[in-house]
Amino acid sequence: MDSNYRASTCPSEMISFGLGDRLGNAGAAHLKLLQAYNVFPVLAQQSTRELSLTKRTYADVVKAACEQSVELAWERGFGADGDHLKTAKDIRTALEAGCRMITLDCSDEFPKTEQKGIDYWGSLSSEKQALYQALYEEYLVFSNEHDPSCEPLEEAEFHDTLAYFEPVFLFIKRIYEETILPEPAKIDFEISIDETAFETPPFAHWLLGGVLRADQIEIFSVAPRFTGAFEKGIDYIGDPDAFRVSLRFHEAIADHYGHRLSIHSGSDKYSIFPIIAEELKRPYHLKTAGTHWLVAVELIAETKPELFRDMYHLAEQSFTDAKKLYSIYTEAEDIADVSEFSEEEYPALLQHPNYRQFFHISYGALLRNHAIHDGMYREMDANKDRYHELLNINLKKHLDKLNLEQRI
Ligand SMILES: [Zn+2]
Repeated sequence: MDSNYRASTCPSEMISFGLGDRLGNAGAAHLKLLQAYNVFPVLAQQSTRELSLTKRTYADVVKAACEQSVELAWERGFGADGDHLKTAKDIRTALEAGCRMITLDCSDEFPKTEQKGIDYWGSLSSEKQALYQALYEEYLVFSNEHDPSCEPLEEAEFHDTLAYFEPVFLFIKRIYEETILPEPAKIDFEISIDETAFETPPFAHWLLGGVLRADQIEIFSVAPRFTGAFEKGIDYIGDPDAFRVSLRFHEAIADHYGHRLSIHSGSDKYSIFPIIAEELKRPYHLKTAGTHWLVAVELIAETKPELFRDMYHLAEQSFTDAKKLYSIYTEAEDIADVSEFSEEEYPALLQHPNYRQFFHISYGALLRNHAIHDGMYREMDANKDRYHELLNINLKKHLDKLNLEQRI
């Protein structure tokens, strides 16, 4: 295939946007809209969880992205992201399939039992202690310059944070040496620590940057967990002012070390998009996966009510199992029986947060059902113009609220 139509890394000066075409048929519509925006699209962006739920492989998703870029004669480049990967084996599979971005998910590497920071500190070599001590002292100066009103980080907290995060740093180093370093081509390597139960302390981000710098490990981006909740398919939940403070601090740290910030589960976070646009003056990465699956469901709600009802019933049956895989606030009792709605009301359900989450997490069960899978693809093909129109409305809303400069 022409090298123009293979996945590539993101130019350093461009904002990158993870689109993650779960159904393999949204990329062309997205690219058509993006012709007017100065954004680097990451068309493929799948996690292994998503691939197993949709029964696709990395080869399938990268191929779909390439084909759609050919269809549009898209020569500005696009990315393919092996998203939220946790093992060297999965990373190799994604790289072999042509992914040029790898998101390493570190969430399983945190210690399961608590160890006292001071004990951990005592177990480190003097060489390591010297490195960490220097990073701690630099941080005290840096954080005070960033915000003179904030309390200086206490030594005990320094040791506790280190004890909790050092296993993650060692994991990143090992994975980098086994998978990224041997690659002849450049790889956009992202470190994800966003799927944790707690907000990422800025000092942990600082240590991460410092350790990787000391080991000469070059990274593309870091995805911390910001304050507030980033649930799938719905707007931000939390205090936008607190988000601004957290974003600003993490951005200052990212800027210091020269990587970009990555914001995950960025779909539909309209209330904080203006804050992102104001605070991030350097390029960043934002992942918006999954939202166009809801666009596909909305299309079916409009065009094929009987299929929509079948989907609704199956989503109800699979809801409890699906909820185990995703952190969402919607409960089974928040979902009414479909008979309570008229067919004309179906499309509007996809504007409601509870129903967005209900359908968002059900994609695996729905796509594994052959009749529903085939029925959905038939509808998307038969109503391609309307499907593309809905996709563009959705993506345009994201791009415009983020104030992303129009190319023309
Ligand atoms: Zn994530």
